[in-house]
Amino acid sequence: MRRALVCGAGGFIASHLVRRLKQEGHWVRGADIKVPEFAPTAADDFRVLDLRNRDACEAALSLDSGSFDVVYQLAADMGGMGFIHSAESEIMRNNALINLNMIDAAARKGLRRYFFSSSVCIYRDMRPGEPELKEEEAYPALPDNEYGWEKLYAERVAMAYGRKYGMEVRIARFQNCYGPEGTWTGGREKAPAAICRKVAEAAEGGTIEVWGDGKAIRSYTYVEDMVDGIYRLTASSLTGPTNIGSPEYVSVAQLVQTVVEMAGKAIQIRYVEGPVGVQSRNFSNERIYSVGWRPRYSLRDGIARTYPWVHEQVEARGPTPRSSLGASPASTSSTR
Ligand code: NAD
Repeated sequence: MRRALVCGAGGFIASHLVRRLKQEGHWVRGADIKVPEFAPTAADDFRVLDLRNRDACEAALSLDSGSFDVVYQLAADMGGMGFIHSAESEIMRNNALINLNMIDAAARKGLRRYFFSSSVCIYRDMRPGEPELKEEEAYPALPDNEYGWEKLYAERVAMAYGRKYGMEVRIARFQNCYGPEGTWTGGREKAPAAICRKVAEAAEGGTIEVWGDGKAIRSYTYVEDMVDGIYRLTASSLTGPTNIGSPEYVSVAQLVQTVVEMAGKAIQIRYVEGPVGVQSRNFSNERIYSVGWRPRYSLRDGIARTYPWVHEQVEARGPTPRSSLGASPASTSSTR
């Protein structure tokens, strides 16, 4: 039985990853600064640890006998565009500490395989209609935000440790990921969850506010597809960063429309000023396709699974407090 440590297992993507690893027959330890919010962890063992701290990284890696076969590093201080622009220094410090301490502890323990979750935020902005960028075209680098710069640095750190310690390093650059059990309120939620929440909260015939003009182009990847990509990439022999994301590119307006249709409500959209991030995205998937990965969920299929879950959360919470109506920092937008 393979043993996996999943860092960030209290969060969205990693808690789904833990379930997949269990299905694949792994023994799994989760580590996070918090336990999962929406469902009990599927991990065999879960440690609440602040992975900015080097001793905590060692504790996460420590076993009574033997060692982990693989570490999946998904822990990060992150959120949607509102959060990314309001917490730049925290993001750069916290994520750099997590990434430096975890890979150093893992390499010195002799770990053989390490997965790191990077982001398409490492790429420059693109013009709508521009041909797709391949992984190596991340350079010369010009990420749109500090979160992307830290990810780029952490990619390089991971590759340098891989070279020095002979550790197999796998790096995925995720597109926007969404699905049930993702953060949906509180200021860190990303566009799909924020839009689902706003639509669920809106009355029939009501109006929701969306940041920007609705023209920004994005791809949204359903969490099960993302987890499948992580699993296949980590098991593969592909070295170097690898994009993972749906090839279905849509405008933010199309995303909103898909959610509205799923809700079956008449909703007016008001586009308002807000942090939008880059104009456009378009990335090659040739590398991840080469390991047999293909997304199984269209945006419509994924939203059909996500909207009802967000709607349930909204119903369970009860009416939105008046003080937060219309003031959410997460209207819609995310660069990830
Ligand atoms: P998430 O916020 O749900 O999960 C991240 C987890 O990291 C959280 O549970 C958080 O508590 C944990 N964490 C933060 N600081 C920590 C610390 N000091 N010690 C231990 N744990 C800590 O986010 P997610 O969407 O599941 O993202 C997972 C990874 O994927 C992140 O590295 C993120 O940057 C990357 N990513 C996500 C997306 C996306 O669209 N969701 C896109 C690109 C990249």
